[in-house]
Amino acid sequence: GASVHKICAGQVIIDAVGVVKELIENAVDASANVIEIHLYDHGFEKIIVADNGHGISDTDVHTIARKHHTSKLRKFEDLDGVHTFGFRGEALNSLSSLSSLSIHTRNASSAGKMITFEKDGGTSSVEEKRRGHIGTTVSVFELFRDVPVRRQEWQINKKKEGCRIMSIIQSYAIISTGIKIVAYHHDGTKRNASATLVTSGTSLASNLSEVFGTQFVGTLDHVEFSFEDSHVRGMISKRNTESCRLSNDRRFFYVNGRPVDLPKMARCIAETYKNFLGKSHAAVVLNFEIPTDRYDVNVTPDKRKILLHDESRLVESFRRKFQEYFEAAEV
Ligand code: ADP
Ligand code: MG
Repeated sequence: GASVHKICAGQVIIDAVGVVKELIENAVDASANVIEIHLYDHGFEKIIVADNGHGISDTDVHTIARKHHTSKLRKFEDLDGVHTFGFRGEALNSLSSLSSLSIHTRNASSAGKMITFEKDGGTSSVEEKRRGHIGTTVSVFELFRDVPVRRQEWQINKKKEGCRIMSIIQSYAIISTGIKIVAYHHDGTKRNASATLVTSGTSLASNLSEVFGTQFVGTLDHVEFSFEDSHVRGMISKRNTESCRLSNDRRFFYVNGRPVDLPKMARCIAETYKNFLGKSHAAVVLNFEIPTDRYDVNVTPDKRKILLHDESRLVESFRRKFQEYFEAAEV
């Protein structure tokens, strides 16, 4: 029944951060090279994600928010190199039951459509609506409108939630090359918006300097090496105490471009900094390229936790290579 559905939905989207994350991933999956995120009153009133990706196909328009309907490959193992974030077809379904959801989309062969949804994920209407360029704009009003307690709690914390939303936007903006990402904050009542984040997508270093400033990037070194059948690439605090002191402990981990938590890798890096410099504070922005059959992403609803098969061995071989990298700097 409806309540069962809501429990399931609640597991996919547990907060506004999850909404923004899912919508950004959909835009990336649609091959957008410009993504705009609009937060009204820190997302409490409205969240809009607009992209210039390929749009929703005419055949999908009536079914996209049906549970497990996805135009993407169903199993991560099937992807084999081809990489999409989505593969479960649950995000829009959840959103249709948790908020007022509307989608304005245009693909290469249509003039534009506005889609609104029933609470059970069914399409309530599809209307022709002109749209200038190909792409998709997803609007989420009044998230958790039917869960008053949840909304009250959120109202009190909306600024804090807004910060969490910004940090998830940062994590995608930093790693995304070839995609311009702009986040706007709209002050509740006022119509005027201010851009709070702009990345051009030119390179990891340029994205980082656009997000955190050139001074911050000046404290970092490029790092890249292979270990076992994996490869790691990114930027980390220069191997001296002064850089570590300045570099602010910012940590961003990715597996094949997907933002994830890698607590064991994080600890291993902190320990190495500590061993060599006496301080464990360091900024870390690392993308691990790991064969897709060596991990599972479908462990938690928000997909941030991943299950690395044979994790301790992988961490240990990373540790050895990372230490060598450190030793090389001392010469
Ligand atoms: P999933 O991403 O796992 O496929 P979602 O519920 O996030 O599931 O999206 C359902 C489907 O809607 C996607 O498979 C895709 O076909 C379509 N879709 C969603 N967002 C976009 C977008 N921004 N551009 C084009 N198609 C989209
Ligand atoms: Mg998705």
